[in-house]
Amino acid sequence: MQLIIGDLRATTVTVPLEAPLRHSNGAHWGRFVRTVVEVETTEGLVGLGELGGGGESARMAVEGLRGHVAGHNAFDLSALWFKLCNPTASLYNNRVQVHAAIEFACLDIIGQALGVPVHDLLGGKLRDRVAFAGYLFFRYANEHDGTGEVRTADQLVQHARELKALHGFSAHKLKGGVFPPDYELECYQALGAAFPEDDLRYDPNAALDVKQAIRFGKAIEPLRNDYYEDPTWGLNGLRQVRDAVDLRIATNTVVTSIEQLAANVLHRAVDVVLLDTTFWGGIRPALQAATVCDAFQLGVGVHSSGELGIQLATMLHLGAVLPGSQYSADAHYHHLTDDVIAGGKLAYEDGSIAVPDGPGLGVSLDREKLAEYAALYAELGNYPYDRDPGRPDWFALVPNENWARP
Ligand SMILES: [Mg+2]
Repeated sequence: MQLIIGDLRATTVTVPLEAPLRHSNGAHWGRFVRTVVEVETTEGLVGLGELGGGGESARMAVEGLRGHVAGHNAFDLSALWFKLCNPTASLYNNRVQVHAAIEFACLDIIGQALGVPVHDLLGGKLRDRVAFAGYLFFRYANEHDGTGEVRTADQLVQHARELKALHGFSAHKLKGGVFPPDYELECYQALGAAFPEDDLRYDPNAALDVKQAIRFGKAIEPLRNDYYEDPTWGLNGLRQVRDAVDLRIATNTVVTSIEQLAANVLHRAVDVVLLDTTFWGGIRPALQAATVCDAFQLGVGVHSSGELGIQLATMLHLGAVLPGSQYSADAHYHHLTDDVIAGGKLAYEDGSIAVPDGPGLGVSLDREKLAEYAALYAELGNYPYDRDPGRPDWFALVPNENWARP
């Protein structure tokens, strides 16, 4: 069987968030900008993919590859990698994230053609549901109705309680790196006091220097931490923190390729590798990494780089087949007010989401929603992910030297 790619299309949409999400580099300004990819075979099968772009459209990057993928057999995924991501050619044009979106679509096409879910193409699911942590951000208030602010420890705990009641989370991740470390430490400790039976994780996106990261890490050692995520920048910084604190160190930033994973195996800096289906270049590269992690007893977890339902489906299929020691996944998803997939947002139940069992990725587009949110993107345009709407002249140093004032 051959499934020849005829064309590909990309549609950029913007979907509102409950409130702007703050992080160490700036913010998601009250909405996500995502680019939905449709790869169509000459027989008329349409596979779906999705990617972000730091608040910007990725449409031109995707559609610029039309000539590269037209005529390609969707089954030939190893060849697709070299066609788009040849490691030396990539010094000029890094297409790993665009490749990921096209890989998702090819897997979706193959699954539809064979009548099987993507997890069956990956060796079969080991679990029917994927567990998620609640993903807590410091948030600005929604500019339209003033709701949703998370700034103080009390607001943070209240927000976590609401999410736990709604979705059943038993793990809570705090995205930090916004306010001074001592202030964020108080907030994180307040979570620990409020949820003594739950697991915690703190991720300041590498905003701390090594000394601050060690100090913060020692202070949180008594809490029920899953891991301490990217407290500082780089494998060599993380290794120093790992040597100094009694915590599992995780990253989603500096182990995002097999080459980097090999470096970490040879000279360990992190204990947990967070696998992002976009940053790793697809579901299959992430699964390959998971197999290596399992061999070396490194922990893994499914990582979220911000997603609508198509990308969430890729995370669910990956989570369903992961071997070895797995932490609950992250997802920004519960901050979204809507989705572009048919049937609306996928539902959390008891802190987990069911793995789709339909053919391919198991999700399809709601064309009306796609048009609605493409129109909203046309109206609102891009936003700069690496700028803070509340501090227009600021940009982040790594490590940061200039914290937001709580
Ligand atoms: Mg992270």
